[in-house]
Amino acid sequence: MRIKLIYPRWRKLERQTHFNLPPHGPVVFAASLPSYVDIEFIDENVDPLDLDDSPDIVALSVMLAAQIPRAFEIGDHYRRRRIPVIAGGISASLHSEEFVQHVDSIFIGESEGHIEKVLEDFRNGRLAPLYDYSGDLPNIEWVGPARRDLLNNEHYMYRGIKMLDLVHASRGCRFKCFPCCTPFLGGQFFRPRPLSKVVEEIKSIDNNRLFIVDNSLAQNYQWEEELFKALIPLKKKWVSHPIEDDDRLLDLAYQAGAWYVYQAVFDTSEVIRNRVKRYKDHGIGVEGTIILGTDNQDIDYIKRLVDFLLEIDLDVAEFTILTPFMHTPIRAKLEKEGRILSNNWADYTCDKVVFQPKNMTNTQLQDIYYYAWDTFYKNRPQELKMGDLFMKVIHREIADGTYKSSPKPKDYVRHTRQR
Ligand code: SF4
Repeated sequence: MRIKLIYPRWRKLERQTHFNLPPHGPVVFAASLPSYVDIEFIDENVDPLDLDDSPDIVALSVMLAAQIPRAFEIGDHYRRRRIPVIAGGISASLHSEEFVQHVDSIFIGESEGHIEKVLEDFRNGRLAPLYDYSGDLPNIEWVGPARRDLLNNEHYMYRGIKMLDLVHASRGCRFKCFPCCTPFLGGQFFRPRPLSKVVEEIKSIDNNRLFIVDNSLAQNYQWEEELFKALIPLKKKWVSHPIEDDDRLLDLAYQAGAWYVYQAVFDTSEVIRNRVKRYKDHGIGVEGTIILGTDNQDIDYIKRLVDFLLEIDLDVAEFTILTPFMHTPIRAKLEKEGRILSNNWADYTCDKVVFQPKNMTNTQLQDIYYYAWDTFYKNRPQELKMGDLFMKVIHREIADGTYKSSPKPKDYVRHTRQR
């Protein structure tokens, strides 16, 4: 059976330095497929997409709302050609009612232990329009090592430097933050993978730099401690979402290779100042993720917030505009208050105003978004700040003997040889 797995393209965040990380969801899904499946993977953000081929079935992996319009186009195209299409992934699950019009079948939930049934139905000519396994989460032990062999690695480079490889050590999240759909999708459960499997998978990755994509590492003190202790001998360097705010764990995390964290910065409080300081005191960098447009903010507040970010010396900042994704607490609130302005998912890229802000006009929020990016990076441009972060990891790698210069992309090698 030939499956063509497609990860539709989307428009990237305006103002952010452009690069492509290898996608993780599709290669984790691919690992759950039975061995008789012959799979071709296309990440449309970096690979050309041939729409004239004839696989047995097309599978659309749709993580982001901004991928939805393109997923619909691809689904419509293959269905016109009578090639069956199935869609899965976070946004296919959140928008299943809309996908009905554009695909033959929608898969909701996690694929391990469930996808065999779908393929069996397909082989018997009775593919169902909906497979909803949201209430039947698979045993976490069934999660296999991601099929990174399907990735076109030479396309995940930035200025000759190989991008991070993605891996996950757990699923789910015990928190319930206002802009997030994770609790809706997986309940508020934290589900760690068996540590031995995580270590084995990380060891097998031919890249010293990783992104541990778990929702937040600060889920369980003992688990975090065991994870970090297990990672120390591997000498990998990694990026992650928040780590527990605890000196002992932060120290262990650094020894385990913590390079920098994505940390939400939502106000100018001493709590945030100290949180960032503690990371930095332990040698861990901080990329702040800052949502603009919440109800407690007005224009002056956001200007003060940007000054504060410079003052606490964040390594890098990523500004986004509050975006009410489906099945999030913030969407429920804004819907109730009649403040959703657009359901055009192509605009749900986190750099467009799609709701009515409370203390600003739409245009003022859009303008202050540009102001935040431009002011934060005025004295040292984003690419240089990113370069500073890279230098930190390179120094650490040289010190512990793990530094490897990145392989050059093939095109670059070919071009230099011709000269
Ligand atoms: S934002 Fe992160 S920590 Fe908060 S609920 Fe979502 S996944 Fe959990």
